[in-house]
Amino acid sequence: MRAVRFLGNGVADVAEVQDPKREAGEVYIKVMSSALCGSENKGYFGDHSGRPGGYYIPGHEMSGEVLDPGAAKGLAKGDRVVVQIMDGCGKCPYCKNGTYQFCEQLKYEGGSHAQYISLPEKCVIKAPDDIDYDMLVLLGGDTVGVANRAANQLDLRPGMWVFVSGAGPIGLGVTALLKYKGCKVVVSEPSAYRRDYIVKHAGADLVLDPAVDDLKARLRELSDGIGPEIIIECSGNPRAQLQALELVRCGGTVMLCGENYEGLTIVPSNHIIHKEVTLKGAFYFTADDFVDIVKMYRDGLDVSGLVSHKVPLDGAPDIIREFSQGKTGKVIIHPQE
Ligand SMILES: [Zn+2]
Ligand SMILES: [Zn+2]
Repeated sequence: MRAVRFLGNGVADVAEVQDPKREAGEVYIKVMSSALCGSENKGYFGDHSGRPGGYYIPGHEMSGEVLDPGAAKGLAKGDRVVVQIMDGCGKCPYCKNGTYQFCEQLKYEGGSHAQYISLPEKCVIKAPDDIDYDMLVLLGGDTVGVANRAANQLDLRPGMWVFVSGAGPIGLGVTALLKYKGCKVVVSEPSAYRRDYIVKHAGADLVLDPAVDDLKARLRELSDGIGPEIIIECSGNPRAQLQALELVRCGGTVMLCGENYEGLTIVPSNHIIHKEVTLKGAFYFTADDFVDIVKMYRDGLDVSGLVSHKVPLDGAPDIIREFSQGKTGKVIIHPQE
């Protein structure tokens, strides 16, 4: 089959590779749409010289058609599916609850920027067959999935102003969902391209440039003079995460969606205790989130504007470079083209 390969240090190509190995208990899928995710940047710029062949096949947000369900219950040849790539042990309380992302024996599956993929049954989620593959990859990917996990933990009310920090893919998904729920959304984002994009395609009500705007003053104007009740941090930037704790009102909630493995120095007395702030996180999504999201889609949730580019497989290396520089919205690859 043909697939995108990450060769390391910001180099990607498309090449003929071996078809996926079909292990027992796996479902064999023809990939129809595969979306780029911000979390791929780490692998794109990383070093893969130690891997067999010196590369790996990226991609973990996809929709496709089942070619061979194997022994999977409830799946048949020809079914439309989306995937979740958290491969938990299947036996612990988290896995039994369908929250594989919390499993202590977690492995990550992946490799969807390719024509075919073989995945364990628990990673494959049956999708409605009246929704097209490009929409399914959005509804069944972590852009909207994380947004839904975050939203389900928050006391969101129509008409309230919510502050979203960061207008990358997760910020876009969060903003689109908040607008669907009737909230007003103010976004802070350093990239002019992304500020413009989130207004036009996710419906943000107001965007601020942290290099120019006085965030504290602007946010207080919108929120009773005391700052936002809810802040959703989507950039993962440690400074933005700390700032969220400083900007949130007393008794408010900061939801972290942007990944940060670098660490963060907080002063618990100032940032949490004296303000009685609630600090939360939202990680990935589950099959139940996908059910929620499909319901909202049928009820009018519109996420189609999040996609700025759709490309055939050969177009992937160029657009991946642009994506890694923050110059695109969400990108969908069509591996069969
Ligand atoms: Zn992702
Ligand atoms: Zn488990």
